[in-house]
Amino acid sequence: MIYLKSDIEIQKMRESAQIVSRTLGLVAKHLEPGVTTASLDRIAEEYIASQGGRPAFKGYGSPKNPFPGTLCISINEEVVHGIPSESRVIQEGDLVSIDCGVEKNGYFGDHAFTFGVGEISEENHHLLQTTLESLYLGIDQAIHGNKMGDVSHAIQSHCEGHGYGVVRSLVGHGLGKSLHEEPSVPNFGKPGTGERLRDGLTLAIEPMVNAGTWKVETLHDGWTIVTADGSNSAHYEHDIVVRDGEADILSTFEYITELDKNQSVTIPTYG
Ligand code: MG
Ligand code: MG
Repeated sequence: MIYLKSDIEIQKMRESAQIVSRTLGLVAKHLEPGVTTASLDRIAEEYIASQGGRPAFKGYGSPKNPFPGTLCISINEEVVHGIPSESRVIQEGDLVSIDCGVEKNGYFGDHAFTFGVGEISEENHHLLQTTLESLYLGIDQAIHGNKMGDVSHAIQSHCEGHGYGVVRSLVGHGLGKSLHEEPSVPNFGKPGTGERLRDGLTLAIEPMVNAGTWKVETLHDGWTIVTADGSNSAHYEHDIVVRDGEADILSTFEYITELDKNQSVTIPTYG
């Protein structure tokens, strides 16, 4: 069942998404060689609570193995769903994907950014840049009257055109009163196929792109997804609402792009 959102609901979703955006900006300020992923997770959890929100990932999943963190922190060959840990220390040159979900007033925000730590290689920078570009190319297609396949194809063709692998087994999604709602938003597909996009449809668009093969595996922790060939991976995610003419982005990267040049993160540029 697909739920189209009213303007009041969209306003609540924007508020949750903006808490996520500010959380990502805050975490990025603390992202440097030597810090543990658990320390970043604590910063995020405290900030979200201070904003009247609830970390949406914490406790998510089956009761047998609920996700324990506020953030998913996925480094290098880890694609998504990395678990924050006291023993995982950030290193110079790492690619670090930070994914965060927040619920406030019954509505969810969910978005993500991949950072380079300190100086990163030219190859890694190109992977980040291309993946971020593909997110915006997908968003450009998320307008009333288009089909989901138009979004999917825009992402896939851009990334594969650069020789990268686009993950198949994990996809973007609808969101709103739940963290994951219908429809699915695959990062691969044919133009003109799939769900017709309508005003008020709210989506999390999130390309997951590997430097090598598109194939992935799950680690024994039951959560962490890694590339099957050990190549590095990048992940960017925005929340949007479909509009007539132009997608409206509910989340923002402005707290990241405004980071001072002295911060120890490298970020791709877009637009
Ligand atoms: Mg998501
Ligand atoms: Mg996410």
